[in-house]
Amino acid sequence: MSVIPEIEGVLVQQKPTIPGRKPEIFSLISRLCLGMLLPLTLFSCSQNNTNSTTAKGSDKPRVVATSTIIADLTQEVGGDEIQLKGILQPGADPHVYEPVPADSRFLEEANLILYNGYNLEPGLIKLMNAAGKGKKVAVGEVVKPLELDKGKGEIVPDPHVWGSAENAAAMVNVIRDALIELSPADKAEFTQNAAELSDELKQLHTWINQQIQTIPPDKRKLITTHDAFQYYGRAYSIAIAGTLIGISTEEQPSAQTVQRLVESVKKTGVPAIFAETTINPTLIKTVAQEAGVNLSPQQLYSDSIGAKGSNGETYIKMMEANTRAIVESLGGKYTPFQLTKKIEAKPQK
Ligand SMILES: [Zn+2]
Repeated sequence: MSVIPEIEGVLVQQKPTIPGRKPEIFSLISRLCLGMLLPLTLFSCSQNNTNSTTAKGSDKPRVVATSTIIADLTQEVGGDEIQLKGILQPGADPHVYEPVPADSRFLEEANLILYNGYNLEPGLIKLMNAAGKGKKVAVGEVVKPLELDKGKGEIVPDPHVWGSAENAAAMVNVIRDALIELSPADKAEFTQNAAELSDELKQLHTWINQQIQTIPPDKRKLITTHDAFQYYGRAYSIAIAGTLIGISTEEQPSAQTVQRLVESVKKTGVPAIFAETTINPTLIKTVAQEAGVNLSPQQLYSDSIGAKGSNGETYIKMMEANTRAIVESLGGKYTPFQLTKKIEAKPQK
């Protein structure tokens, strides 16, 4: 999936205007931006799904986040004090993402690059190491990884650390510290934003635990398309009873693998299994049909938050939407997540 086709399109070629066809709004913005800012950096023009601010100039520190999850958490902590560009777009699969030329320029111009690490985004990590001049921080690697056997004795760290909201809170601390180091003058704001977000994540963590507990114990089993929910399963006491593919989506399941999963779905007696927003659902749909169980109508957000306007448009909403889908599909009783308290703003030195 091309990440910023509009910008790339303008950079690489001037597309002729097709009479009668309305230009897309983003395409228009990109064109306007590029026209105005040729002497400036590509960054000044960046439009990000999680970046509601329009960069006023090039004086704010330039931060690149690779995954949509890290971009969302970073936007919350950085607020208006940073220019943030998230490379991956909602719905894109980080495991197989192939960078486009504009990514290279964003990475080159960034003062700080925040990435997940544990090889979640191999294409971007490779490019970052080649092109990135700013400081690079593997935000997800603050979490002690679950180690998984990739087969043939190859043990790799599981990169899907954000599956636990407690882990996300640890990632927020890493982001806060990296931003403070980048822009010490904004320390008070970053600290306050991070504290508020951590408080929300703590509440989210408690809420998810309560929700999963409403599922009948013998149905507390999760079967998904790829192995992205180990941390979620451990944190919230729901067993990962099977996946179609491993922790990286590069693998193609064999007919035998599909058949094995059908058998284990039947054996576990779960009422439903789950597709994911970043992966083609065709095969998991087949598994559901052959096993005679439901495919949850709500796909799980695994490796990416949802598009703006969706029920998974932020990290917190994504976790809420996933939990709702799991609870409702497996026979639990869902009650919406509500933030109950806000921490008091503390005077900053
Ligand atoms: Zn994944």
